[in-house]
Amino acid sequence: MVTSGSVPSAPPHFVLVPLLAQGHLIPAMDIAALLTARGAAVTLITTPVNAARLRPLADRLVASSSHSGPFRLAELPFPAAPFGLPEGCENLDLIPSPPLYLSFFRAAAALRGPLTSLLRSLQAPPPSCLVADMFSPWAADVAADLGLPRLVFHGPSCLTVLSFLSAQRHGLIGPGAAAAEPFEIPGVPHRITATRAEVPGWFNVPAFEELLRSILEAEAAADGVVLNTFEFLEGDSAAAYGAMLGKPVHCIGPLCLSTKDSVGNVGRGGDAAVDTGRCVEWLAAKNPRSVIYVSFGSLTYVPPKQVIEIGEGLAAAGAPFVFVIKKSEVASPEVAQWLSGEGGFEDRNKEKGMVIRGWAPQAVILSHPSVGGFVTHCGWNSVLDGVTAGLPAICWPHFADQFMNKRLVVDVLRTGVDVGIKGPLSYVDPNSVQLVTRQEVERAVRSVMDGGEEAEERRQKAAKLAEEARKAVEEGGSSYRDLDRLLQFPSQKYCNAAYCNGAGTLLYLTIAG
Ligand code: UDP
Repeated sequence: MVTSGSVPSAPPHFVLVPLLAQGHLIPAMDIAALLTARGAAVTLITTPVNAARLRPLADRLVASSSHSGPFRLAELPFPAAPFGLPEGCENLDLIPSPPLYLSFFRAAAALRGPLTSLLRSLQAPPPSCLVADMFSPWAADVAADLGLPRLVFHGPSCLTVLSFLSAQRHGLIGPGAAAAEPFEIPGVPHRITATRAEVPGWFNVPAFEELLRSILEAEAAADGVVLNTFEFLEGDSAAAYGAMLGKPVHCIGPLCLSTKDSVGNVGRGGDAAVDTGRCVEWLAAKNPRSVIYVSFGSLTYVPPKQVIEIGEGLAAAGAPFVFVIKKSEVASPEVAQWLSGEGGFEDRNKEKGMVIRGWAPQAVILSHPSVGGFVTHCGWNSVLDGVTAGLPAICWPHFADQFMNKRLVVDVLRTGVDVGIKGPLSYVDPNSVQLVTRQEVERAVRSVMDGGEEAEERRQKAAKLAEEARKAVEEGGSSYRDLDRLLQFPSQKYCNAAYCNGAGTLLYLTIAG
């Protein structure tokens, strides 16, 4: 005999499975902050090296007054050595040479067994939904093994994932497609034209076919999607994407606003290479909206010649600047010599320039009122950092989704200028980098920072986006409402699966003998 009765609806327990890369771990921590603030339990799956980086943020999250649901960072040992990776190579930004990218994804996929065992052992409360990064398609098998609903989290803009899906379905990309040939992407709002090399992003090089196939299969089999965007910014693309995919789409961004106080931003993604207080002091001494900030995210490698051209272009443009140069870039003797010592770049620009060697407290810097422009590689998190700070952008994409994100900023939102990279450049071949001269850098910076009608228009549009971003995450805003839907998703998923009485009450089944 089967009987039924209503159970009190326990808060859901979300298990987040991010790609092990800064641009994915940081938004995963933001999702954890949002969900736990609304009473859900969250377990974020990571590895020892990444957990050490995330610990300051995690500690702050647990200590924060807005946090109410339980949060845990779960560490699974990363099988680096069996896949030919150096010990401790647990994040994309630690991969020593581009050919090892694929080995890294394969090593991550080997976490399937350990994750399944871990989730089986988790109780009080047991997991109710997996939110797995698009780049963790192996998590689909974990969810299937455990009978859990699964949502895919996409790191890039909605325009990027929609364009990719559409082009894929229409057979417009893939082997044999002429890389430089532009085409209008079917089913995408705003009549976006892109080249056949730009749309596939990560997948425009051979050897990623296997990963691509599993990503598409995992997306097709998922119960829905979570996106780091918001209705005002990309509502039209999100509607088109949901319709094309035939699945619910939750737009809960901008996730970077989940840490509202600037102190909360300090430890985002790792320890800053600069004293944040000193940085803020330096910014405070500059005029409002006068400083240009230059950073290319966590993965992009800028070759020595280009670092020097950027620096000299910035110096010539005249605006005060913060220039972030990665440790791996400063390690080049050419850069080190140009940068340091008497008469070196830093010495020549000590009044108006700040060079950060390594990880920058980016969110703190961009949200400072003295910052007035952002030279960005168009990683989606950085784009949103700029959007929420109300900043016009100079778009300098390198690879992956960055070219489609640039199209959104330059062609649709009209808050940015294009530095003119013909790309896309390949992350597996740093020699493919197209050099931008110091004169071109100077011109681009002046066009954004020196005023004029077009610059003012961009600035106003950017300010409007920042205002709308804030409204989206406030109570009753579009992202707040989508987060509500996300919180209800696990129980509704079971409702839809006929374990429900149709009135929204969850029922349980008792098999009596
Ligand atoms: N970031 C930072 N300091 C840095 C470089 C990056 O805080 O020096 C943060 C940035 O705020 C963003 C993330 O790292 O949240 C980078 O992600 P994005 O998608 O912009 O680019 P990716 O690193 O994935 O190319």
